[in-house]
Amino acid sequence: MSELATLNIMYLSGVGPKKAELLKQEAKIASYEDLIYYFPYKYVDRSRIYAIREVDASMQHIQLKGRFTSLKTIGEGRTKRLSATFSDGTGTVELVWFKGLKYVQGSINGDSTFIVFGKPSVFNGGISIVHPEIERFDEAKANVKMGLQAHYNTSEKMKSNFLNSRVIGKLIQTLFASWKGKIPETLPSSIIDKYRLMILNDALRIIHLPSNNQELEKARFRLKFEELFYIQLNILRLRNQRTYNIKGHVFGTVGGYLNTFYAEHLPFELTNAQKRVIREMRHDMGSGKQMNRLLQGDVGSGKTLVALMVMLIALDNHYQACLMAPTEILATQHYETISKQVEPLGIHVALLTGSTKKTERDRIHQSLRNGEMQILIGTHALIEDTVIFEKLGLVVIDEQHRFGVEQRARLWRKNPNPPHVLVMTATPIPRTLAMTVYGDLEVSVIDELPPGRKPIQTVHYFHNRRNQLNRFLRDEIQKGRQVYVVYPLIDESEKMDFKNLSEGYEYMQKSFPESRIVMVHGRMKPSEKDAAMHEFAAGNAQIMVATTVIEVGVNVPNASVMVIESAERFGLSQLHQLRGRVGRGAEQSFCILMTDFKLAEETRKRMEIMVRTTDGFEIAEADMKMRGPGDLEGTQQSGLPFELKISNLSRDSQILQMGRKVAEDILEDDPLLEKPENYILTKQLTKLARAKINWSMIS
Ligand code: ADP
Ligand code: MG
Repeated sequence: MSELATLNIMYLSGVGPKKAELLKQEAKIASYEDLIYYFPYKYVDRSRIYAIREVDASMQHIQLKGRFTSLKTIGEGRTKRLSATFSDGTGTVELVWFKGLKYVQGSINGDSTFIVFGKPSVFNGGISIVHPEIERFDEAKANVKMGLQAHYNTSEKMKSNFLNSRVIGKLIQTLFASWKGKIPETLPSSIIDKYRLMILNDALRIIHLPSNNQELEKARFRLKFEELFYIQLNILRLRNQRTYNIKGHVFGTVGGYLNTFYAEHLPFELTNAQKRVIREMRHDMGSGKQMNRLLQGDVGSGKTLVALMVMLIALDNHYQACLMAPTEILATQHYETISKQVEPLGIHVALLTGSTKKTERDRIHQSLRNGEMQILIGTHALIEDTVIFEKLGLVVIDEQHRFGVEQRARLWRKNPNPPHVLVMTATPIPRTLAMTVYGDLEVSVIDELPPGRKPIQTVHYFHNRRNQLNRFLRDEIQKGRQVYVVYPLIDESEKMDFKNLSEGYEYMQKSFPESRIVMVHGRMKPSEKDAAMHEFAAGNAQIMVATTVIEVGVNVPNASVMVIESAERFGLSQLHQLRGRVGRGAEQSFCILMTDFKLAEETRKRMEIMVRTTDGFEIAEADMKMRGPGDLEGTQQSGLPFELKISNLSRDSQILQMGRKVAEDILEDDPLLEKPENYILTKQLTKLARAKINWSMIS
């Protein structure tokens, strides 16, 4: 396809320098190839012409054939419009234009038969169509295929420069007519034959100019398959390259630390899921290959204990380990839990965060370098170049979604031979997305909560039920439970949000004079924040009014009620994370979503999902369906390897699985794609990788 990629769009008949510039700026179309890969976003069936008599306002876009019987300009200024009466012998409709009056007026005449296309609506008791597309019947017959018509996204700027969807369609037709050669194939013929795929040349033509739905489906399938297949092939080949090139530290022994901990200090019986994932990791770390594992487990599933036990394996083999958390609060909490648990074993553990004092920091640096310090827990501060380990064998990253790929890589480089890497995430990721974004990581799943947990009960209240809410909270507090009240504070600098938060705090103080209430937000000094957190964790305060700083990881098992104020302002996965702060003890826990009366349809759906289920995976799937994978938390930084042009990770999961399987089969036979018959694959991968780099340089 190199030729099509090198042909400048400017030279396509009908384009020219000015339009070429616009196409490039507004739609990233610079070459013939870019235009071919500018896929329609929808198709409209234009095979049918309706009689006006049949038309009603509930119909979607329809097509009529007839003549103009009158044309007049009505109104002045902003309401000035062009109104035409259009008739086909079975009835009449009114056609209305508010924009481009001169142009429309010039193209209408009473003598010719026209095709009119648009969405009917009711106005003044009759049917009218606002801003229909019109075309003389003889021209329509010649130009537009009266079948499925492709529609293309165009910006306002493009539209006002005569680059609307229809023009794009015509340019594509011109391109196919002028390009005599076949578009070179990008998949090996073995795959095409085996899976009976349409060849690329046909698929690309049909995606723009389909004559029927069946044909279109086959074309789309071929293009989606190709897209998803190459993503999988890329990820899996990278994984192979890594396993072939990097030797992993061999953790062959299970020694005193783990055994003693397991036999004498384990705080509770491990769940079967915890046992299984630890086994999986032990296997990885003993294999001579570098472990790269993603540990998924819903909030509260006990990932911290797993992390600790895996770190003990590293220590047993005379390596150091570190655990990196996204916030200071969380790092501190991990430090406290873990140092208490390993104290009887005489293990050296340190906490390093942005607020660690210089002398302490120097001491830690020193003891890491000479190997005395065995476990380091901390925040981003761990990544700094001044942090040097004597022998780092394992890196655990908690709550992955706050760390970018680059940050992960910097931790790797802390040892000549990269350490084993365990990434833990509590934001469940839909399977298809995980396969795509983390497809190079092995995945372990904790699919079981510790015993005795009761599912959290979730309700959705409007603000008018506040008295009822307060009565409920008072009851729970009297039973000895603790309560979180969370306010949205997406941007810590938002004044308005702060006002809500502090007003909420005052309101709670007034409503619960008998209780002690602490407030926590991101603008507080770390020491103040810690003090407040401690008050709550120790049970001295019954209510914590907070922002989302408590979203990740905070663990107070006695807290059993989570009230989320203005819940409409949170995304699904954030709501799920917040809810996960309760339900950690044996008590029945509750989550109350407080919102306004007036809710958008989508928001209402979000609340319904939260009330209906506590299953993080189900929520993640729903989230992806509603928002699209690009917006999911945790994916922005890691990003998809290539831009998806036609497939959709939630709708096309079967094609994705198929793509993965085909990629696996190929790599099994040729792990690094070195065989000559796979040349077409490596060539295409190189091209896609290049396209990605260029793309990121432009945007
Ligand atoms: P997360 O997976 O969200 O990080 P944590 O590691 O914070 O979960 O664990 C949540 C709570 O469950 C903690 O209080 C922890 O002590 C407890 N826990 C962990 N494993 C078990 C277990 N096997 N049995 C009982 N409680 C457990
Ligand atoms: Mg955790």
